[in-house]
Amino acid sequence: MVETPDSAHRGHCPQSLEEMMDYLHLYASSKNLPALLDQAGKENISHQEFLKRFLSQEASAKFERQIQSRIAQAKFPQIKTLDTFDWNHPASIPRQKILAASELAFLEKAEGLVFIGPTGVGKTHLANALGYLAASSGVRTLYTRAVDMINHLIASQADHSLHRALKLYSAPRLLVIDEVGYLPFDKQGSDHFFNVISSRYEKGSVVLTTNRAFKDWGKIFHDNTVASAIIDRLVHHSEVIKIEGASYRVKDRKRKGHTDISE
Ligand code: ADP
Ligand code: MG
Repeated sequence: MVETPDSAHRGHCPQSLEEMMDYLHLYASSKNLPALLDQAGKENISHQEFLKRFLSQEASAKFERQIQSRIAQAKFPQIKTLDTFDWNHPASIPRQKILAASELAFLEKAEGLVFIGPTGVGKTHLANALGYLAASSGVRTLYTRAVDMINHLIASQADHSLHRALKLYSAPRLLVIDEVGYLPFDKQGSDHFFNVISSRYEKGSVVLTTNRAFKDWGKIFHDNTVASAIIDRLVHHSEVIKIEGASYRVKDRKRKGHTDISE
């Protein structure tokens, strides 16, 4: 059997300071203890202040680990941030609305955002940047492309794990659903999409991106009834962010010396 710090102590309660800190997993404090003791001696601080400094190292190390795991759990395809976004590129963009959303107050109210615009205007970039801000502040977040989520739900229905799969998309405080509208869904897929949106309604936030106006959603979601039911719940507590302009990808290729986008 592999000896873990816990199993190594089985049979006797740890006695030495090192053993106890190891047993309690106080690794950050353990590493910094000599420096902390040295400084405490020089500054002649109170016991309470010493304990606070000792524990604050452990608390901040634990918080940092949690943030890193939130970011990993979110499964962002790439890390994008608002500071790398060129606000002058889109022909039209409600910058103030997006900056206000970056304060993340919408998460407290289980509200959402719907980014609508043609391809390449930065919808995925902005949705990811907001998701990254949320995860970085400790909010449980998940990114998925719409088609991946629906394929996963359909597959999980086939192998009887639908309940668990639905939980994956209903549990996070923020669900980022990217690329709604590139591919249409059949009746089953559309029903799954509705279930996700309805399970999150007024409980969790959705940030969604789409290249299609709401009036065309009947073509994505099998029929107008399902589409209306989805839109109804989605927009009730959401800010709609319309972006217009040319694709940044084309601009980027031109900047790099490519002129023919069909290459
Ligand atoms: P969309 O999801 O609207 O199709 P993306 O967000 O995927 O577009 O953008 C395509 C690429 O161009 C990405 O690499 C993205 O980071 C970049 N991009 C788009 N708009 C901007 C912008 N205004 N400033 C900086 N980068 C941008
Ligand atoms: Mg996109």
